[in-house]
Amino acid sequence: MLDLNNSNYFSLEADQVYMSNSQYKDFIDCEARAMAKLSGAWHEPHNDALLVGSYVHAWAEGTLDEFKKSNPELFTNKGELYAKYKNADQMIETLANDPFIMFLLQGEKERIITAEFAGVVWKAKLDVRNQEGERIVDLKTVRDIRGKHWDNDLRCYVSFVEAFGYLRQMALYSELERLYYGHSHWYESYIVAVSKEDPPDKEVIGMDTHRIEEELVEIERKMPQILDVKSGLVEPKRCGTCRYCRETKQLSKVVHYMDLLA
Ligand SMILES: [Zn+2]
Repeated sequence: MLDLNNSNYFSLEADQVYMSNSQYKDFIDCEARAMAKLSGAWHEPHNDALLVGSYVHAWAEGTLDEFKKSNPELFTNKGELYAKYKNADQMIETLANDPFIMFLLQGEKERIITAEFAGVVWKAKLDVRNQEGERIVDLKTVRDIRGKHWDNDLRCYVSFVEAFGYLRQMALYSELERLYYGHSHWYESYIVAVSKEDPPDKEVIGMDTHRIEEELVEIERKMPQILDVKSGLVEPKRCGTCRYCRETKQLSKVVHYMDLLA
């Protein structure tokens, strides 16, 4: 298998060899898009929100100066942050001014781990891992923390941690960390969330082991289909609504109006 490091962790080659939380999410959302990305035929367009997230993560990792140097597009000719990114500094200040959050962000940063789970070898990057405190922490930058997100399957509103699959990610990371280091129990896992509002909101979010178990069972249930598609045994299904599907859409039939919101 490919040895992972900071320069190849996000590479196409690493994604082809390993499964990851984001690749899993890709397959769940749209198999066709996931496969187009894995083949290198299609790329997600540049996204300012991701850059803000990376900026705040670089601060938490202690590598903000390097990050600024390698992303000059963040700055004006005068060397000031563009207005749309100024919010990122405010988010960092919000985190830095909170002793509880600063305590939870202590530990090993951006640790790369790999482990076999649900019939496949996964890669994961732990934002913070604290061995003495037996905890892992994931830092999330979000639009707002208390926002309601409609879940079409559950037919109810859920929080951002459910809507964006963050509980699944924390469950998965807990299990991969346990397998990689070989302990018998899960470390505590927390999400440190900071919002993009002005002023930013913040929260430390926990989950229970019951939900971890549920999330892991769900991954194990869905993985055979994902692996069949990834290995080329089964044709990938198109979701029909994502950016990739819209860009490559070809009509062959009429849709009934009642199906538009299905
Ligand atoms: Zn799609």
